[in-house]
Amino acid sequence: MSHPIPMVDLTAQYPLLRDDIEAGLKQALDEARFILGPNVQALEQEVADYLGVAHTVAVASGTDALHLALRAAGVGEGDEVITTPFSFIATAEAICYVGAQPVFVDIDPATFNIDPQAVAGAITPRTRAILPVHLFGQPANLPALGQLAEQHGLALVEDCAQSFGASIDGRQTGSIGVTGAFSFFPSKNLGGYGDGGLVSTDDPAVADRARALRNHGSRRRYYHDEVGYNSRLDELQAVILRAKLPHIDAFNDGRRRVAARYAERLGQSERVAIPHADGIGRHVYHQYTLLCADEAERDQLMAALGEERIASAVYYPVPLHHQRAFAEHYGDAGPPSLPVAEATARRCLSLPIYPELALTDVDRICEVILRR
Ligand SMILES: *Cc1c(COP(=O)(O)O)cnc(C)c1O
Repeated sequence: MSHPIPMVDLTAQYPLLRDDIEAGLKQALDEARFILGPNVQALEQEVADYLGVAHTVAVASGTDALHLALRAAGVGEGDEVITTPFSFIATAEAICYVGAQPVFVDIDPATFNIDPQAVAGAITPRTRAILPVHLFGQPANLPALGQLAEQHGLALVEDCAQSFGASIDGRQTGSIGVTGAFSFFPSKNLGGYGDGGLVSTDDPAVADRARALRNHGSRRRYYHDEVGYNSRLDELQAVILRAKLPHIDAFNDGRRRVAARYAERLGQSERVAIPHADGIGRHVYHQYTLLCADEAERDQLMAALGEERIASAVYYPVPLHHQRAFAEHYGDAGPPSLPVAEATARRCLSLPIYPELALTDVDRICEVILRR
């Protein structure tokens, strides 16, 4: 029987990183500066340099990064934030945390990302921000969204949790809107060995506010300008992320190599549609997500892969406007109809992808899909 193929294998890159991580951890343990220590500070500078932004603020998770980015960008009570229904729930949770209302609009069927035309149709006098997600590592249409934001005086806040290293015309995601939010959850393109996140911005006022918010609203020790949070990135996670950062382009190239092989093998398949490659910008394939003909066909394909010990997953089975958590936002009329997101949720199927995935394994996966 052939070996199992997981969605992601975090053990595969550890040998490459072991020496740097172990040396960095040893030094950090010896120095014992565990809260906002030298590695967090160095990581912030290194990520700012990589992204091409003036400021980054390392925080405790991607969810916190979104929350603090929205708050620092001035989004608050009574505001509306237009976002995508086809994302992880944290995108919309962060909007609720600041007292604003998520307004879900439909997605572009080719990229699974928020449809700028739908955004334009949803702008009201209460709209304060647009929150696109670069879903699965594919840049959202920021040129069009940026134009809308400018026309209507809205903040463009990027959810970059899945897009570390993706770019549009050479500009990194997270450096284009007023602020960006990254996640260092272990399975993300740049992942730590626990939770972590980061806010990016060119705006010194946004950076200053996010920096204060992550540390109890404090700019000077024991002086608190507002009620903030305890949301600091852990020093030991910063060591791990610093060891990984120099490899991020090679890791993303590895993902793109896997994606290219999938496309080569599955591009002509009648059974599945492969994802749109490099539309608006450079795709970094956090996920490789197919569309099946319908839900039954997807479930069959999942089962067939499972029989061969090949993992697959549905990201995401329930669009956010249908999540019970947001039911209270809708009156008797119920949630809006967002047909593209709803159909995509029924038909999508993500295949294993990670930088070290062997192309022979990709071929094995494709054989199961092309069979019959
Ligand atoms: C992972 C993720 C988040 C949240 O990040 P955490 O670090 O898990 O809090 C937010 N948005 C999207 C799109 C994500 O994929």
